Amino acid sequence: MDHKLLDILVCPICKGRLQFNAEKTGLICRAEKLIYPIEDGIPLMLESLAQPFSEPTGNAPGVI
Ligand SMILES: [Zn+2]
Repeated sequence: MDHKLLDILVCPICKGRLQFNAEKTGLICRAEKLIYPIEDGIPLMLESLAQPFSEPTGNAPGVI
């Protein structure tokens, strides 16, 4: 998947920017903490398909 896609893809809910998850199997919106699945290289930008995303420990401040 082309990284330039991230420049044109936005979250359908908040219109915010998205980012790949670690496995590059989904696109994360941090605002809703949702992850949109990518199937066969095609991001499925549907709220009904999005899964709750739990942030791994790392640069998270530790507050949800
Ligand atoms: Zn969003």
